[in-house]
Amino acid sequence: MTETFHEAPVAIFTAATVHAQADAPVQAFAAGGDRVTATGSLAALRERFPSAPVHDFGSATIVPGFHDAHMHIGMTAEDLLHLDLSHAAVGTLDKLLDRVREGARDASPGEWLRGARYDDAKTGILTRTELDAAAGDIPTVVTHVAGHWGVANSAALSAFGYHDGSTPPPGGEFGRFDDGRLDGKLVERALMDVLYPGTSKTDSPLRPSSPEERAVGLRRAVEMFHAAGLTSICDALTAPEDLALLRRARDAGELTLRTSMLIAVDHYPKVRDLGIGSGFGDDLLRLIGVKSFVDGAIGGRTCLLSEPFRGSDYRGIQITATEELRETIAQVHRDGNRMGVHANGDTAIRILLDIYEQLAREVPRPGLRHRIEHCTLIDDEILRRMRALDAIAVPFAGYTAYHGGALESWYGPERLERMFAHRSFLDAGVTVAGSSDYPCGPFEPLLGLQGMVTRQGVDDGAVIGEKQRISAAEALRVYTLGSAEACGEADRKGRLAPGYLADFVVLDQDPLAIDPRGIASIPVRHTYVGGTEVWRA
Ligand SMILES: [Zn+2]
Repeated sequence: MTETFHEAPVAIFTAATVHAQADAPVQAFAAGGDRVTATGSLAALRERFPSAPVHDFGSATIVPGFHDAHMHIGMTAEDLLHLDLSHAAVGTLDKLLDRVREGARDASPGEWLRGARYDDAKTGILTRTELDAAAGDIPTVVTHVAGHWGVANSAALSAFGYHDGSTPPPGGEFGRFDDGRLDGKLVERALMDVLYPGTSKTDSPLRPSSPEERAVGLRRAVEMFHAAGLTSICDALTAPEDLALLRRARDAGELTLRTSMLIAVDHYPKVRDLGIGSGFGDDLLRLIGVKSFVDGAIGGRTCLLSEPFRGSDYRGIQITATEELRETIAQVHRDGNRMGVHANGDTAIRILLDIYEQLAREVPRPGLRHRIEHCTLIDDEILRRMRALDAIAVPFAGYTAYHGGALESWYGPERLERMFAHRSFLDAGVTVAGSSDYPCGPFEPLLGLQGMVTRQGVDDGAVIGEKQRISAAEALRVYTLGSAEACGEADRKGRLAPGYLADFVVLDQDPLAIDPRGIASIPVRHTYVGGTEVWRA
């Protein structure tokens, strides 16, 4: 049997500015197959590849593809099937209710109405009363942008079997008006049990989205992310149904967004039984580790702090008991797999570092670098310990830009100088990745860059912990090279250099050269993955 191998066709790419993040300045690069094959001057590449087409983007700027090291694409695929009630889409509570009213008018008899991405902190407080007025007797559920709670109207509450005298399921809560009646807010298990009945013993009248529907949502998500310049993401809590969704899309050739996965810790025994672990997969879809949680949230104000939240004596919550954490992390570590553990508050980070240090002493695994997801509130001692462990920080890039002054009212100015601490991580030699935690924060990487550089709220202009500002060049490296390192992919992502994947973005302006307050509004012209255009303006 004879086989013929063909050289992959080569194309040359150039623009006024190319930030290749390589050893030497790059004017142009050649891509063949899905890789960069050569870099240099345009003249030299033309000479070397005389028949290669040249894509010259003129005055534009080329940067390596943006890489979001922590977001939730499975959740996004679901959200994009429902009414978009995000603050960006509605702006005010009245507009949100207009959308619900239109949705209810268009609903067929017997159908439910679902809204997603509602943000109470920005849009205002929604209860069953307003939903009843807008949706009438069409059962309606609106989920919060961060996914931990939602609001149901009266028709939905009674269909769920919830009434004023109900007690919430364990791990769940009901919101109530002052007079004790349900106000429609369903928290954690009170919502999950009825939204995802497959995962609990409760039956739900609400039909879950089918795999075919979720595939539609995934296609929308991939397009939305490419339009913002993303070429790689890490899904930071992958459940088996998400993996199935992603795998089907990959097999159908629809997954053009390189996706790595931190599998939810509850499912780790299955992964282990199969004998697979970190690194299993390919450049489109890869398992990179296991996800667990220490504490609560920054925006939700439940993270575990050594000093209480401003104006209160509340110090947040620990989600997973220390002994349980130690046991699961030890298993994953012994197997040589990467952990990505959610720890926001300083107390949570210390609990996690104690465990990582103990394992590093007792079961050395050289080269295995664990992650701290969010790693929000730090101090010098935490930095020293992270450096010694070679642990990786995956902080929110865009929270200062997104939340602005609200952060100061929750955490106070002193603490904000030690939160989302990109400057401190870089100065201490701790690897730091770029991440949005979308849908908990905005997904646009250029907004993340702007936030890291300006530390300024885009709505209110409030400056948040300005000592943590980094340069635009540093922010670009964080959102490309830093994320690649956090995902164990630094040998093939984050640079435009021979052997690296030909993933890049063509921007209308140079984010390193303009007033940083304009970075988020730079138009994305083209997005390329593996040398192939996947999106154009
Ligand atoms: Zn997350």
